[in-house]
Amino acid sequence: MNLSGKIALVTGASRGIGKSIALELAKAGAVVIVNYRKDEKGAMDTLKLIKESGSYGECIKADVRYYNDVYSMTYKIIKKYGNIDILVNNAGVSKTGLFIDMTEDEWNELLDINLKGVINCCHCVLNHMVSKKSGNIINISSIWGNTGASCEAIYSASKGAINSFTKALAKELAPSNIRVNAIAPGVIDTQMNNNLSKDEKEALKLEIPMMRFGDGEDIAKLAVFLSSENSKYITGQIITVDGGMI
Ligand code: NAP
Repeated sequence: MNLSGKIALVTGASRGIGKSIALELAKAGAVVIVNYRKDEKGAMDTLKLIKESGSYGECIKADVRYYNDVYSMTYKIIKKYGNIDILVNNAGVSKTGLFIDMTEDEWNELLDINLKGVINCCHCVLNHMVSKKSGNIINISSIWGNTGASCEAIYSASKGAINSFTKALAKELAPSNIRVNAIAPGVIDTQMNNNLSKDEKEALKLEIPMMRFGDGEDIAKLAVFLSSENSKYITGQIITVDGGMI
């Protein structure tokens, strides 16, 4: 899959799934912009690996919760590179616990990052993509957006909203030659699951037919396919990558 000449923006690419996606896009030839919020060291490491793979890019700090931050980031990219061909909305946070114990501040933060962050990024790149009549957006959702998860009610709601946003936007933008898809990962071995104890992780693996957690590469390979011309007739889809879990 050849993405040479394409400019990709991956949000939350300082570690985890975003880092794997940034790297795989770079290996396919794309120039990759590594967005991060706090973890500058992690973002610089992603960029180092991108360069080692033979591609290039840069790190841009921006908090996806804030429209102005996202606007400045996308403005800077378009001014310098002339284009954003691929947007991967990956930045996200999780918060587990009983819904009844959650505070308003906690659900506001989660929804601001997981849902409003995606809306902010789409809005800012689409000003540009629509005028070019070309573009590709991939939203990183979750299997919990499909099924709902106990003790992750707000997280599930944020990802369920991403799924319907993806489908709606895909219909609206197909005439402009812009594709919008989502990937719904199962349990992926990243820092996001570090709150689980060793025993909890082992118990969780027993619920997965493939008996293991996924890794970033499992998601990244699909992101590259969805970014490429090989998937040119695929839009509005929520594609599950979960080792058979749901
Ligand atoms: P992770 O290891 O915790 O990484 C999250 C990334 O998001 C970090 O790079 C972080 O950067 C960034 N981020 C968080 N808030 C941000 C903000 N406001 N603005 C910009 N960047 C922000 O998590 P992950 O497991 O790779 O998760 C990535 C995506 O996959 C998320 O959307 C998550 O919901 C989804 N997902 C994960 C799993 C899983 O099992 N891991 C399963 C299903 C879906 P900073 O540290 O710099 O803030």
